[in-house]
Amino acid sequence: MEKPINSTSRRSFIKNSSVGAVALASGLISYRCLANNNRDRKLGIALCGLGNYSSTRLAPAFEHTEHCYLAGVVTGTPSKEKEWADKYGIPPTHIYNYENFDTIKDNPDIDIVYVVTPNSRHAEFGIRAAKAGKHVITEKPMEISVARAQELVDACKAAGKLLQVGYRNRYDPTHLEIMRLTREQVYGQVKVIDTNFSFYGINSPNWRFTDKSLSGGGPLMDIGVYCLEGACYGTGELPSSITAQSFKTFMDKLPDMEETITWQMEFPSGAIANCTSSYVARANNLHIYAEKGNYGTSPAYGYDVPGGYVGKEAMNAGYRNQQAAQMDAFAMNIKEGTEVIASGEVGVQGMKIIEAIYSAAKTGQKVELTW
Ligand code: NAD
Repeated sequence: MEKPINSTSRRSFIKNSSVGAVALASGLISYRCLANNNRDRKLGIALCGLGNYSSTRLAPAFEHTEHCYLAGVVTGTPSKEKEWADKYGIPPTHIYNYENFDTIKDNPDIDIVYVVTPNSRHAEFGIRAAKAGKHVITEKPMEISVARAQELVDACKAAGKLLQVGYRNRYDPTHLEIMRLTREQVYGQVKVIDTNFSFYGINSPNWRFTDKSLSGGGPLMDIGVYCLEGACYGTGELPSSITAQSFKTFMDKLPDMEETITWQMEFPSGAIANCTSSYVARANNLHIYAEKGNYGTSPAYGYDVPGGYVGKEAMNAGYRNQQAAQMDAFAMNIKEGTEVIASGEVGVQGMKIIEAIYSAAKTGQKVELTW
């Protein structure tokens, strides 16, 4: 039995997921609004956690940002201080470690702290940043539980600071076009979604695969989160119920974590989504089947999304550096006081869905969700 979702939450979810995103993508949010609001000032971002994603994606993305720049770093590894200072011209006054991080409050050049640590340290650093008077971006998954994600939302609210979750696909032209096709029901109502994001990572020594206290779980936390996101903005809804099954073939790997997980989401409209995420297979797609046609993208969730299609035709929605689009959009939200698309609330919704998926996989029971 489906439970109806609260119409206000649903409306605000749809607004968050699609309308605002399309408005941004198509330039509908007027840049004239900035005229009296220090339009030319780029906001300073400090990256916190200088691992793979910060090094290979976020730092290079600043070459493509218009409204923000790399102003500082926070790192627990002393050797990275000089390395990053030299590479990006960051002054010593803008380099912090995990101990003196809170003094960032005295640095007016840093407006935003972007938390790019292992998952279970997002809330901790995000809350410290908010208390230091900084706006916060936190990477996905937002945290490892609803409770911790909510703590971060509450801390940002209490400090009067904005919060964004690193759901970069919500700023990607192909995914924005998918949201539009759904929202405008160009091919009628969406009925079925198939989506899978998997890679073969079982033998890596990275914390994702070895330390649940940092990861919070297996592929669902890491990459399955993109599938649940795709299913939500692909339908424009939040799920009303979830069933799930998890599987393991390498018993000595992924301690206390799933290896493959597959879940089914039912939506209030009657649409259903079949989602899978695995660390022992390779897949990357989002297929949306509506009453009068189908659309989607394959590959779907990488940093470049060249595979958008509508029926048998290529979608050709265009390209934008996702990380730059995401960070610029957040800088604009701060400058203009506009609503964050991938907001903390959207992040908490994702965490709630993740917890429901794990619960359904563990008990074998359908989990009903209310919003
Ligand atoms: P990583 O291991 O390469 O980097 C993590 C960094 O955090 C390291 O520099 C490490 O020193 C630091 N760190 C802080 N506290 C730590 C602790 N207790 N244990 C270990 N390291 C600690 O990881 P990554 O791949 O850069 O991922 C970081 C975050 O970014 C994760 O939440 C991940 O899900 C997210 N991510 C997002 C995307 C995306 O496309 N949006 C892509 C990759 C990673």
